[in-house]
Amino acid sequence: MRIAIDPGHSGPCEPGACAEGVTEAAVVLAISDYLSQLLVAAGHSVMMTRSGDCPLTGLKWRALLANCWRADLFISIHANSYSEPTAHGSEVYYYPGSRYGLTLARLIQAEMVGRLGTTDRGFKHAMYTVLEDTICPAVLVETAFLSNPDERKLLTEPDSQQLFAEAIAEAVARFPKESRISLID
Ligand SMILES: [Zn+2]
Repeated sequence: MRIAIDPGHSGPCEPGACAEGVTEAAVVLAISDYLSQLLVAAGHSVMMTRSGDCPLTGLKWRALLANCWRADLFISIHANSYSEPTAHGSEVYYYPGSRYGLTLARLIQAEMVGRLGTTDRGFKHAMYTVLEDTICPAVLVETAFLSNPDERKLLTEPDSQQLFAEAIAEAVARFPKESRISLID
C-alpha cells in the first residue's frame, strides 16, 4: 500500500502541545520515523508530510500532499494535552461515515492499548480537516497525553516510541483482511 504518515504540527513555529520542555511536534516526529521504517520494511511505500521541522502552519497542505501522492491510507500522529495533568489514555479518530477509517481506527486503538497499556479512550469520529480533506481512509491517532507525567515518559523514551509505531504498523498489516470483513457485516 501507499501510506502517508502525517507527523502532527510543524516544529518551532507551530509546536502543538508543550510540557516540561517537550513538544508534541518533536515526539510525534520520532514515532513517525519509527513507523516509516517499519512500514517500508513490510514492503509499503511511505510518504511523510514532513521529515523534520517545517515552516508551514495550517492543515490543508497535509491532506493535499497525501491526495496528490495518491495515498491508500493517511495516518496523522498526535499527542494529547489537557489543563489537568491527570488526564490520560489513547484515542483514535476517523471521519464520520468512513467504514474503512473506522476499521483502521479500531485496529490501531486495540494494538496501541494492548502494547502500551494505556487507558482505552476509544475510537471516535470527528470532522477534523485532515480527515475531511483526504480522499483515502484516514485516521488521527492521539497516542497519549503529553500533559500527563507518566505518559510524557512513554512519549519521550525511544523504546515506547517504538511501541507506538509497532502498534500502528501491526494495525496496518491487519487492515486489508479486517476491512473486507467490515464490508460484509
Ligand atoms: Zn496535535
